[in-house]
Amino acid sequence: MPKILIRPGFILSGGDNWEVIRDNEILVEDGIIVYIGRRRDYVVGEIDRIIDGKNQLVMPGLINTHTHAAMALFRSFADDMPLMEWLEKKIWPAEERLKKEDIYWGTMLAISEMIRGGTTCFADMYFHMDDVARACLESGIRASLAQGLIGIDSEKGTAGLKQSKSLISSWHRAGEGRLTIMLGPHAPYTCPPRYLQDVMSIAADLKVPLHIHLAETRDEVRECLEKWGKRPVELMDSIGLFAHRVLAAHCVHLSEREIKILAEKQVFIAHNPGSNLKLGSGIAPLMNLLAAGAHVSLGTDGAASNNNLDMLEELRLAALLAKGFHEDPTVIPARKALQLATTNGAQALFLEAGLGTLTEEAPADLIMLDLLKPHLNPHHDLCAHLVYAASAADVELVMVKGKLLMEKRELLTIDEEMVLYEANRRAERLTR
Ligand SMILES: [Zn+2]
Repeated sequence: MPKILIRPGFILSGGDNWEVIRDNEILVEDGIIVYIGRRRDYVVGEIDRIIDGKNQLVMPGLINTHTHAAMALFRSFADDMPLMEWLEKKIWPAEERLKKEDIYWGTMLAISEMIRGGTTCFADMYFHMDDVARACLESGIRASLAQGLIGIDSEKGTAGLKQSKSLISSWHRAGEGRLTIMLGPHAPYTCPPRYLQDVMSIAADLKVPLHIHLAETRDEVRECLEKWGKRPVELMDSIGLFAHRVLAAHCVHLSEREIKILAEKQVFIAHNPGSNLKLGSGIAPLMNLLAAGAHVSLGTDGAASNNNLDMLEELRLAALLAKGFHEDPTVIPARKALQLATTNGAQALFLEAGLGTLTEEAPADLIMLDLLKPHLNPHHDLCAHLVYAASAADVELVMVKGKLLMEKRELLTIDEEMVLYEANRRAERLTR
């Protein structure tokens, strides 16, 4: 792989401090950041490529810990409806018509959007995951994939487990480690405890984490109480789910006791404020979770319920909602919010150390933003710009594992025109 030298005006290190470093350089070799520091002299031929960015900012790539990429095909197909009605009347019938190739092109549409917005890694839960894996490998993005499992129908449930095992054996650690696989029991209301026991035993045997939807709506909590006498998080705890590594999406409706359980059992949470607001599900208690010591990361959910995959927008929403909800602007400072979309995301997906930061020996997953724009000037605090002023369109360059996926806003690994053509054509058939 070529040695690439990046010389931006500003480097934001990420991690705990989000230090702003001026006029330094980053050297990338074999997918790894091998040097960050003062600009040095090089002999001719030592570097394959120099990327200059006087008015640019380089930061860690954004990590989206919960989405359903191929649902990009259903963007704006069904809006302004409650979750269950939205699923039962519109989404599930359209999903019945999905074919493998639709999933591939839908995922490509989502990946194109994600790269354009500075997302370098995402966690996906859907079906026909072989085709999702193919799209990830071709596009160069990093991903953690889970086959969505539905256990209420025993035939579908068994088939799903079989597909999950084959997904793990075919794709886990593929793309030189860019892909990892999780098991994806959809939710407590679609996967009863007996089925979850089967899922857990596979997770233990094959040493893979679980990705589940949890406590998303008030109705889910009510039905869970009626059926099992326990709230969703309590139910999952009682059957031993949290003895495994778990990524739980949403976690909106929680009792004090459930917040304590999630923190104590070290469950990794994907906070999805945009989707929760749009579906009218509610507002997750982000600050109470963080105060209890829970691990919270950030996700967009699918583009059918968001309706975009813009992590900078999600970041702003998470920060503003918490401040407004608590009537206190100090609850989540910009640097803390940025951790949700970077380091916390890497931990939530159980990825290699260093991901989500720009440090020597970390994988070279980074993005560059153009600061030569009115809304990003002056430069009093670049971290505040990222949370409160920047948008997806400011991302100029994206690199994953040392490979350039976008430069000067041009996608380098994806034929975008073809993706738009195929996605539109297929979306029309699916929703006709
Ligand atoms: Zn979801």
